[in-house]
Amino acid sequence: MQTFRFTAVENANAKEPVVAVAPESETSAYYGRNVFNRAAMRRYLSEETRRSIYETVERGATLDRNVANHVAEGMKRWAMDLGATHYTHWFQPLTGGTAEKHDSFADPRGHGESLEKFEGKLLFQQEPDASSFPSGGLRNTFEARGYTAWDPSSPAFVIGDTLCIPTVFVSYTGEALDYKTPLLKSDSAVTKAARDVLEYFGEGDEVIHSYLGWEQEYFLVDKDLYMQRPDLVLTDRTLIGHDSARNQQLDDHYFAAIPPRVLEFMKDLEFEAYKLGIPVKTRHNEVAPNQFEIAPVYEAANLAIDHNLLLMSIMKNVAEKHGFEVLLHEKPFAGINGSGKHCNWSLGTESGIGLMSPGKTDEENLRFLCFMANTLKAVYDNNALLKATVLNATNAHRLGANEAPPAIISSFLGKQVSDAFAQLLASKDMVKITGKKGYSLGIPQIPELLVDNTDRNRTSPFAFTGNRFEFRAVGSSANCSGPITVLNTILAYQLEQFKKAVDRKIKSGTPVMQAVLDETRDTFRACQNICFDGNGYSDEWKAEAQKRGLDCESSVPLTYDAFTSKQTLKVFEETKVMTEVELDSRKEVFWEIYCKKMAIEGKVLSDLTTNHVIPVAIRYQNILLDNVRNLKDIYGDKDFRKMAASQMDLIKCISEDISAAESLVDELDALDAKLSNEEEGRAAAILYHDKMAPMLEEIRSHVDSLEMMVDDQMWPLPKYRELLFIH
Ligand code: ADP
Ligand code: MG
Repeated sequence: MQTFRFTAVENANAKEPVVAVAPESETSAYYGRNVFNRAAMRRYLSEETRRSIYETVERGATLDRNVANHVAEGMKRWAMDLGATHYTHWFQPLTGGTAEKHDSFADPRGHGESLEKFEGKLLFQQEPDASSFPSGGLRNTFEARGYTAWDPSSPAFVIGDTLCIPTVFVSYTGEALDYKTPLLKSDSAVTKAARDVLEYFGEGDEVIHSYLGWEQEYFLVDKDLYMQRPDLVLTDRTLIGHDSARNQQLDDHYFAAIPPRVLEFMKDLEFEAYKLGIPVKTRHNEVAPNQFEIAPVYEAANLAIDHNLLLMSIMKNVAEKHGFEVLLHEKPFAGINGSGKHCNWSLGTESGIGLMSPGKTDEENLRFLCFMANTLKAVYDNNALLKATVLNATNAHRLGANEAPPAIISSFLGKQVSDAFAQLLASKDMVKITGKKGYSLGIPQIPELLVDNTDRNRTSPFAFTGNRFEFRAVGSSANCSGPITVLNTILAYQLEQFKKAVDRKIKSGTPVMQAVLDETRDTFRACQNICFDGNGYSDEWKAEAQKRGLDCESSVPLTYDAFTSKQTLKVFEETKVMTEVELDSRKEVFWEIYCKKMAIEGKVLSDLTTNHVIPVAIRYQNILLDNVRNLKDIYGDKDFRKMAASQMDLIKCISEDISAAESLVDELDALDAKLSNEEEGRAAAILYHDKMAPMLEEIRSHVDSLEMMVDDQMWPLPKYRELLFIH
């Protein structure tokens, strides 16, 4: 019997690259074309209005409501000139991804007349019917009001026929229902705290930002093949599928030449990104087959996050045009690398001072060590929370596996910075940090190489990389706001404590710089245990981390307890980034999402096993049985036993896997029915984690074993080798 699988393979193989055509020959000619940026504002807003907007964006000043009417009018004209007919507030609910509800500019007036209308109040604020977004109990459905409010620090943009306005999303009583609200608050908290500390260095009036450069990893799978995999369509990952004989063993995909169809997709994606002012810079093959990466130049964190979310959504559309599906799941395929989204995070000033960059003078280096020590202390004190922000049902498959950072947060500093701290601990004076070293390769035509301050350690979840920290535990499908909000907040809190301690020292007569130096030393001494430069994948590290007091919990639902630990409440309340009610609701939402994702996986696997795999396995088994019977008829009892021995073995193995899979699926269905009645989020999530997750693995092992026995011609689902090697 011909299966759809072979038609899909044939279609996929026949696809030619879809040539991507650049909008203009030079990027600069269309970069940011669809963004209401300064160039657009110059054409559509008066100078006075522009000045108010810049004040708001750069200095965080609150925008006057009257100015908003002028902005709205200019923005509308600009968007309509680009062909927009609708507008939407664009926000980031806790479901992940983004949400939008389009309204038309058209304002029908009756008598067959209509005007194009868009006023300041519509720009400022809207009330989407938000009752179906998760709120973790913050909004009872009878008071389902939720408001979106304009975030002027991230520019509006046009996609297709719609003007999109980045907004926060809060409840009737002002609690955050989204990712952006706490992110913005955390940014204010950390920049204020950093400015206070910079005062010791005479740099207290600098404008500071938290910066983010993300590296987005993803898989591409041919669309025809994808459509034949219900598990990919419904859960974004393969719930079954035997290893391909070859996958990433040869390390021949990483940085290799980009396949032509994929390259055209990447070019098209870049064109779209440039139109939206997303500063993408790097593209390459990743470690696993059909795995790739795209990374931009870093930006202020709020903007970088909006850009990442926007990119994730345009990736889907662009892929469609090239006959691909993008997989943003952290672990779409078992047995090969999963996808992360490294978050390169730092603090810096608008004038270009990197607060996490070593400097040239002693004072600059003290500033560097001071911000480093405070960051490390913040991460040490809050390592459990930091982990909770990156763990979820999908990233759990990646973290802790032998490819990605382990489920223990530690920090890698590299030799140079470790040496500097070691010296600091050992002496009372300032330490020397040497800058970039050069060395000659001894090849006359190649100039001296400049060597970075840090070596690389791929196993560390939170690695210092010369002028920033790279938080590698973040998953590819994540909204980076979760972890960045926590990093900003814990650093803000720690800097406040630091400042209090330094002020006490100054008050008791210690000179300012000496006080900063001494407190930096004390701060580092108190958190040394977070530093680990060894192999984060080793078993010895797990034992050692436990001794150092680092959180080693790997059960996703249990890690969420950290959202309302005493430590977290203290840090978030003091910095005013989130209240206990907000933290508590977040935790509830995350448990709920965890349960829902697991429940869907359970249902899909049950269906796949019962309706796709077992019927085919039985059909093949019947072919074997017929054959054995025929052998017996023709050759008689004696000869047939020898001739059919291996087939009879195979029949036995097949029936063992079939019956094991069947009875496990029965158990799975019963568990699913029971858990769907569980009311309490935490308890339900724990059961899904402890009971259902291992069951999914067990069923899979029987199905994958059947895949290796059943005739390839009959197997209905595209196999790993097809999903991973056709492009
Ligand atoms: P790698 O793969 O070597 O880690 P990439 O070049 O792919 O590096 O990505 C590094 C990311 O870090 C880029 O987005 C880059 O702009 C960003 N980055 C560089 N310097 C900083 C900084 N000071 N703060 C935040 N991000 C930074
Ligand atoms: Mg990196």
